[in-house]
Amino acid sequence: MIILKIGGSIITNKDSIEPEVDYDNLNRISGEIAEAYNNESLDIADGLIIVHGAGSFGHPPAKKYKIGEPFTNEEYPLKRKGFSEIVLSMKKLNLCVCESLLKQGIPVVPIQTSAVVKAYDKRINDFDLKMIKTYLKEGYVPVLYGDVVIDDKLKMSILSGDQIIEYVASFLASDRVVLGTDVDGVYDKNPKIHEDAKLIEKVSSLDDITQLESTVNVDVTGGMIGKVKELLTLADNGVDSEIINANKPGIISKCLQGEKVKGTKITKKQ
Ligand code: ADP
Repeated sequence: MIILKIGGSIITNKDSIEPEVDYDNLNRISGEIAEAYNNESLDIADGLIIVHGAGSFGHPPAKKYKIGEPFTNEEYPLKRKGFSEIVLSMKKLNLCVCESLLKQGIPVVPIQTSAVVKAYDKRINDFDLKMIKTYLKEGYVPVLYGDVVIDDKLKMSILSGDQIIEYVASFLASDRVVLGTDVDGVYDKNPKIHEDAKLIEKVSSLDDITQLESTVNVDVTGGMIGKVKELLTLADNGVDSEIINANKPGIISKCLQGEKVKGTKITKKQ
């Protein structure tokens, strides 16, 4: 089974204040996934789960309503409104993603994360995987996404797509985990700020990122560092993963079909 994560930075215009789908990228990527999915010599059709990020559909309202921060009882009604706004916004993005994939013939089934997951202090503590397993068995491609969820400690918190893949890949013992983002992989420092940043081909510990302090939190879910932390936990649970550049045409298709592409592998320390 393969779990593919598509970053919010790829399928939305992330810097836009208003939610905005990047249809050029989304439709191209759907085509690339379909190319691999329809390759009968691969077993990808035996099990594929897609997880996508939130980008401009989730991060601006999450910031606006300060989701994840403590609040008083008086503030709860406003917070609930923020929760609903994010749930609906993410459903819209998920529908766009699923429609694009279905147009390419992929039998998708959207799974609303906030309807099946509960957290405690920002970490998943209850995730009903039963229906996902059933859909996989019946040949569907479940599509999950980063979302706002009920949190037993904080009342509500943001759950990143990266944490979802860590949990799902660990529990379903995924064979491969691929994350498509907007850079070639993990660098020794933020490549968007530092021209001389060097790509790290293999990460087995946070110490491998020598200039960690420049790897700033670019969003509420922790940006690249958040991603690497989740993937190191996943590697500890026995599942390796790879981060690749989904902005470059052809990379996702090649990677899903088992060809070697530029990127970073996250593996357990030997
Ligand atoms: P996505 O939305 O695809 O999940 P994020 O935007 O959360 O991805 O994280 C990717 C971003 O992380 C890159 O665009 C880059 O600007 C930033 N980043 C910060 N530090 C690093 C680093 N050391 N290596 C790679 N990317 C980094």
